[in-house]
Amino acid sequence: MSTLDGTIASRGYAYGQAFLFREEPLNLKKTFIRAEHFTEECDRFPQALAAVRDQIREIETQAEGILDAETRALFESYQLILDDDELVEAIEAVMHKDGVTASWAVHQVMEQHADAISRLQSPYLRERAADIRDLKERIVKELLGAVSDILPDLTDRILVAEDLSPAQSVQLNLHTLQGLLTDRGGVTSHTSILARALNIPAIVGTRHATRMIRDRDWVLIDAISNKVWVNPEPELVQLYAKTRAAQKKEQEKLAALVHQKSCTLDGQSVILAANIGLPSEAHQARAAGAEGVGLFRTEFLFMNRSNLPDEEEQYATYKSVLEQMSPHPVIVRTMDIGGDKDLPHLNLAQESNPFLGLRGIRISLRRPDLFQTQLRALLRASAHGSLKIMFPMISSIDEIIEIHRVLDKVRQDLDITKKVDIGIMIETPASVMLAPHLIRFVDFFSIGTNDLTQYTLAVDRGHTEIHDLYQPLSPAVLLMMHQAIQAARQAGKWAGVCGELAGDPLAALLLIGLGATELSMSAGAIGRVKQALVQMQGPDLKERAERALHCATAAEVKALLEAWDAELHLS
Ligand code: PEP
Ligand code: MG
Repeated sequence: MSTLDGTIASRGYAYGQAFLFREEPLNLKKTFIRAEHFTEECDRFPQALAAVRDQIREIETQAEGILDAETRALFESYQLILDDDELVEAIEAVMHKDGVTASWAVHQVMEQHADAISRLQSPYLRERAADIRDLKERIVKELLGAVSDILPDLTDRILVAEDLSPAQSVQLNLHTLQGLLTDRGGVTSHTSILARALNIPAIVGTRHATRMIRDRDWVLIDAISNKVWVNPEPELVQLYAKTRAAQKKEQEKLAALVHQKSCTLDGQSVILAANIGLPSEAHQARAAGAEGVGLFRTEFLFMNRSNLPDEEEQYATYKSVLEQMSPHPVIVRTMDIGGDKDLPHLNLAQESNPFLGLRGIRISLRRPDLFQTQLRALLRASAHGSLKIMFPMISSIDEIIEIHRVLDKVRQDLDITKKVDIGIMIETPASVMLAPHLIRFVDFFSIGTNDLTQYTLAVDRGHTEIHDLYQPLSPAVLLMMHQAIQAARQAGKWAGVCGELAGDPLAALLLIGLGATELSMSAGAIGRVKQALVQMQGPDLKERAERALHCATAAEVKALLEAWDAELHLS
């Protein structure tokens, strides 16, 4: 028995026999062409391009209903590559200069292009190198007259591949798979997006799967704790079979709730929204029944790269999320860099207390270039859906006044009059104490329990040694939240919660009892929270939350929730 790990692309457990997917290498050699055949060879190249164009068009049609809109859009980029005059001219130039076959020239030029892209900083762009290689192989196969692959039967198998191109993922019948493992790829690769969309447990970027696993080996994937066993012991398989069965039953129960309204038995409705960090996660959010995105963390746009995203790139990203979620609202949080999220190319000084230093809105207000670019992109994107903008790490009135000044300027520059709701995150004790004042300047509050806990209790949220002191259910934190929610309600506005606490079913009920009307969590948590919510009466939640506010310790609050759980069988 051997083990592997990688990056979890789609959560779940799977057990089955491996199907090792390897495309035969094309075995291309540099081949010269005789002068008398040269014109004929030159004519074959555009014909091959046209044939591949048709192939892609056909795959694009098949992809309807299989791939999400974002992945399907990749096929448009395939067509753009095929229509790229510069690329075509470069291939023809190599043929003329070296007197080589069209297939060799295609291989040379497109491989160079893919190689250059695979060295870029942005993981998203790096992954596009695979698209160019896929196209290259298709054109070369056309030119060589190679027979296209016979499609294998993947029913109940674990597909093990180096990576899959979007076209391969459509052609292979992935619906019937048990699980998926790849050597390459990260969470943003289309293979990962697809695995999530089809709900196939998948671990990507394992580096060695295709070398360690042989065809028909038995493979156990635990894409919850990121482990893969090859030919596991029967005891382990049995143990997982039980866990899987329980998980499946639970999923079936939750799936039945996806389209059910999220409200209490007496009709008090609560918006259950999703937290996302990548545009592709909007698809999962919808599939889980999210009634909006309550927190779109935009930091990912700025990370793992050596340059800053320009206005156009940001605009395209925000527009894509807004369109995917429409008509539901999307709350985009402006970048929350700093603290534990460093950005090397901003050259921020090393700080002895990064969580108390230059972080979130403090960076935005000191870097008007960054802030205005993000706001411009957001306001322009607001035409494509229901956008709300939220600002992180607020601790004073001055900050919100300055935010409004910058926003007004950007609005005027762009001549945009559409109303966009503005909110702030409640993450610092100062923002709680100032809540009655702050609410006058905004449309809503969203409580970030991750930071509010850290700042209220003065416990670093990532500290392992004092982790036991990090207690989001401490009455100190509950009282803070209650105070902020009350301030919003008294002003006739709303308050939601988007920290991790909102995704815990029992804690979620407590937050609703405290007056929160929107809870935002990872898409995977929505089902369980809804399941708990629909069994409850609104006044009961309020009464129980009031009891929790009178507790003196986090342990007492937890005991209250556990008793509640035992009484109502909620979790
Ligand atoms: C929070 O602080 O609760 C929050 C949602 O923001 P982040 O986790 O991104 O700091
Ligand atoms: Mg935070």
